[in-house]
Amino acid sequence: MIERLGYGSRLPARAVIFDFDGTLATVRAGWMEIMLDMMMETLGPLANDAHALRSEAEDYVARFTGKDTVHQMEAFAEHVWRLGGEPESPEAYKAEFMERLEHVRADRLSAAEEGRISPDALLVPGARALLQAVQGRNLEIYLASGTAHNEILREARLLNIECYFTGMYGSASTSLTKRELLARLVGSGIPGGAILTFGDGRVEIEETKAVGGTAIGVATLEPDCVEVDPKKRGWLAAAGADHIIPNYLEPGLLELVLGQ
Ligand SMILES: [Mg+2]
Repeated sequence: MIERLGYGSRLPARAVIFDFDGTLATVRAGWMEIMLDMMMETLGPLANDAHALRSEAEDYVARFTGKDTVHQMEAFAEHVWRLGGEPESPEAYKAEFMERLEHVRADRLSAAEEGRISPDALLVPGARALLQAVQGRNLEIYLASGTAHNEILREARLLNIECYFTGMYGSASTSLTKRELLARLVGSGIPGGAILTFGDGRVEIEETKAVGGTAIGVATLEPDCVEVDPKKRGWLAAAGADHIIPNYLEPGLLELVLGQ
């Protein structure tokens, strides 16, 4: 079911933006648990209520989802500091997290690379069919991610989805952030109301709403990606998502994109 929360723009989309992790790809599925487990190793000894600590950490982790990981680690370092600990630098925390995540990521990518699993096993169900359908309509289609630019390019190639995009932007000084991409599209003459974004992070939802576009929250419950994850749904609804979907198998999704 496509859950409608707002009305979004009434214009047919001329540009469609997809976030990568958690929106199209499940290469990094489970990253939030890995991040929170890592944070709790430091936070746990600093206070008594582990449940409250984890839930506080989850709040800022969710708030910065979709941006470069260093923003989450800045909030974490600040949290450690407030509890009287001596935080490491956000960059050092980010490096530690990336190392832990790398094990999961590398396993999944090599399975796809060596043909042990199909690339589609690392995509949210229905993603390829929707990308194909949207591509056939002559819309501009962009990939925009807070993950490192070179990793995004490699993974899009490996998942065999790079052919669908007009442009792909990950995190790098030479690339564009989600906000910069939106500004460039609007600057190129596409009305904000004709931009539609799919995302599982607060950042892309808020930035899209800020230019008057339509935001579709992909609240897929990983790893099966069949149902809506109630927690993600709550975060995306609070960020201003116009619609919530569990995956791309929803009938009527293409019509929603096309504004029909
Ligand atoms: Mg994401």
